[in-house]
Amino acid sequence: MRNVSLVIIGQGPAGLSAAIYTARAGIGTLVLGCAPKIAGDYDIDNYFGFAETISGMELIQRGIRQAERFGAEVRNERVLSIHAVAEGRFHVRTEQEEYETCAVILATGVSRVRPGIDNLQDYEGKGVSYCVSCDGFFVRQKKVMVLGEGNFAANQALELLHYTPFVRICTQGKTLDMAQEFQDKLLRSGITIVQDKILSLGGSDGLATVHYAGGEQEEVDGLFIAMGQASSSDFAASLGLVKRKQFIAVNEQQQTNIPGIYAAGDCVGRFLQISVAVGEGALAARSAIEYVKKECAKE
Ligand code: FAD
Repeated sequence: MRNVSLVIIGQGPAGLSAAIYTARAGIGTLVLGCAPKIAGDYDIDNYFGFAETISGMELIQRGIRQAERFGAEVRNERVLSIHAVAEGRFHVRTEQEEYETCAVILATGVSRVRPGIDNLQDYEGKGVSYCVSCDGFFVRQKKVMVLGEGNFAANQALELLHYTPFVRICTQGKTLDMAQEFQDKLLRSGITIVQDKILSLGGSDGLATVHYAGGEQEEVDGLFIAMGQASSSDFAASLGLVKRKQFIAVNEQQQTNIPGIYAAGDCVGRFLQISVAVGEGALAARSAIEYVKKECAKE
C-alpha cells in the first residue's frame, strides 16, 4: 500500500485545477481517473482566455501537463472504493493499487448509470442498496445480487462475501467488461454471473424477487447496484457524506461533512460548466492544502 498526502479523484477540469494548486503548494498530489467525457473532439467556446475555440481534448491534455509540471502524479486508474480506516485516514482502492491518504478531493463528475428497472425506487432502502459497506450487514447469510458488468461490480460482490456466501452478479443485459483477474477471483469464490436483464422487482414487505426479461424470476433479499464505474454517490455512501439530491453537499470552501474530504465540479451540482469546475477545484485545493499542512504534518 502506498502512502500519499492527497488523492484527487478525477482528471476533469475540477480535479486538474485542484492538482495545479496543491502540487504548487508542495503537497504530494496523486490524481486518479480516466479521460473525462469532455476530452473528445468537442468545441469549447465559452471558457475564459480562448478567443478561438479549443477542443475539450486539448484543454484536458494541457491541464494534465500543467499539473505534472508542478509535480502532481497523474495516473489512469479507476477507483473502486474509498473507506475511512482510522481517525483521519482513508484507503483508496483502484483496479491496480491501494493507497492510504489523509485527504481526498472528489472531482468525479456526474456519471451514475441508471439500471432501467421499472420499480427500483419502490425498493430503495428496502432491499435495494448502493453501498456494500453500509448495508452488507443487513444481508448476513442472505441471498444477494450485484447488478453490474465491470470491475466495480466484481469488487462489490467480493466485498459482500464478508457478510454472506450467497452472492451472484447480474450484468443487466450488458456485455461482461471485467478484468480477467476479477473474473478469476469470482470463479474461485463461487460467485456466478447471470447475463440477463432485470425488468422489475417484487415483494410486498421489501425486496423478495427479481423478474428477468426472459420471463423467469429469482428470489433475492438484497440487490446492490454497481453498474459502470463507482460514482461520487457510491463514495458518498461508503464515507457517510451528506448529499443534496444526487450531489455531494459542500460548504463554500468545498468541504464535505467529513474532515479531510472535499468535493468540486459537477459532482457538487451547482452549475455544470468548466469554469465553475475549475473555480471549485481551486477552492477545494485551498481547503485541502490547509488541512494537509495542519493535520497530516503530525504523522
Ligand atoms: P468531469 O469532467 O466529468 O471529470 C470527471 C473525472 O472523474 C473523469 O476524469 C473521470 O474519469 C473521473 N472519475 C469518475 N469516476 C471515477 C472513478 N470511479 N475512478 C476514477 N476516476 C473517476 N462545459 C462548458 O463550460 N462549456 C462547454 O462547451 C461544454 N461542453 C460540453 C460538451 C459535452 C459533450 C459534455 C459531456 C459536457 C460539456 N460541458 C461543457 C460540461 C463540462 O464538461 C463539465 O461541466 C465539466 O467537465 C465538469 O468537470 P468535472 O471535473 O467536475 O467532471
